[in-house]
Amino acid sequence: METNTKKNKNGKMEKFVCSGGDGGNGHPKIYLTIGETEQSISCPYCGKVFTKSS
Ligand SMILES: [Zn+2]
Repeated sequence: METNTKKNKNGKMEKFVCSGGDGGNGHPKIYLTIGETEQSISCPYCGKVFTKSS
């Protein structure tokens, strides 16, 4: 599976897609959104932490 990120300008919301890792170790694809006042978010399935790129 794959993990995609979409970059936005600083201070904006940022969306991530997480599907857990590769092969049978993955989980259903979910969408994670980091709000304007947040800097990072962790996936509730696999615990992977996504941090804003800017
Ligand atoms: Zn995940």
